Amino acid sequence: MAFETRFDPGLDTVLVKVASRCNINCTYCYVYNMGDDNWSHLEKFMTPETIDALCSSLAEIVASQRKCFSIVLHGGEPFLLGEARLRFLLRSLRVVLPQHYPISIQTNGMLISIPILNICSEYKVSVAVSIDGPEAVHNKYRVTHNDKGTFDQVVAGINILKSHTDALFLYAGLLAVIDPLSDPVEVYQFFKELEAPSVDFLYKDGNHTKLPLNKASIISVEYGSWMVQLLEIYINDPYPIKIRVLDDMIKSLMGGIVTKEGLGLTDFAIVIVDTDGTIMKNDTLKSTYNGADKFDQPLNVKEASLLEFLASAEFDEYRKMQRPTNSKCLNCPELHVCGGGMILNRWSRENGFDNPSVYCADQLHLVKAIRKTLANYDLQHV
Ligand code: SF4
Repeated sequence: MAFETRFDPGLDTVLVKVASRCNINCTYCYVYNMGDDNWSHLEKFMTPETIDALCSSLAEIVASQRKCFSIVLHGGEPFLLGEARLRFLLRSLRVVLPQHYPISIQTNGMLISIPILNICSEYKVSVAVSIDGPEAVHNKYRVTHNDKGTFDQVVAGINILKSHTDALFLYAGLLAVIDPLSDPVEVYQFFKELEAPSVDFLYKDGNHTKLPLNKASIISVEYGSWMVQLLEIYINDPYPIKIRVLDDMIKSLMGGIVTKEGLGLTDFAIVIVDTDGTIMKNDTLKSTYNGADKFDQPLNVKEASLLEFLASAEFDEYRKMQRPTNSKCLNCPELHVCGGGMILNRWSRENGFDNPSVYCADQLHLVKAIRKTLANYDLQHV
């Protein structure tokens, strides 16, 4: 199959790691618990000097690119910044980014408070919370540094978020890492009870050399089966919550375009800025080998222009990594839906990234079920 991608020139997303430490210690975390130690050499928080340099770079892009791009504030845990640092950061960003440029914060939910949300509301910054499901599902992996479950505090944080006068804007959604041993019906019902405006489900990190947790082999479909059960509940719910990953797959099967990397044929231009200002590759690559998210010639926003970096051959080469190279993917009839999955899931010690996704069997299982569903509804698919 000829491999044509849809490429929309220009920056899509800047993921900014505003804090390098976390107040909890999820056992599956790729930042701290998968062999990479870069975080330990970084300052705890992005300094005002780095924030100023980043904002100058962003202003240059705003002035030269027609489409708007989004900012995602990440960590570690971004709310560890505290009120004063958070206010400085958000104010600095909003000085250069007009209101219609989306800014969001991805948080573990432990430090959500009304004063913190007031600052987010003032600068039009939405909040997405990581939570994996009901108590037993969530507490299995998302624990404190003393191995205590974080569920109660996270739900308390979500309830504060829901109760805020600006909740309609602030409460962006939930992010859940799938445990294939959990019950998808229970997980879905729980997220409905939390009145989540949308939920993004992620497969666990892993690759051909180190299989994802609870995946027995590359031909087993634990994650795919879990997603098929979720699809079933989703399709039959007259008042469903929004599930981004299923929506994107359904859309791409009907000839549409996905909204996020890891699926479909759209090349996204995403840069990561580390806490010290270094421009990095997608930080989930940390789960493959130590330093996999570093460019050969690392640049820092304090000395280099992001705009120039976006036009560089090195960035172009990195962006092209989104396209799978393995012949199985290139000849796959579902490439336009699966896209070869996330780059990190293609890695093996022997072949580097030249493999299908470690979730290939899961994806094929899921796409088949979605096709069947669309056919049941007499919807045309490609
Ligand atoms: S990972 Fe598997 S399903 Fe996805 S494009 Fe490659 S061969 Fe197809």
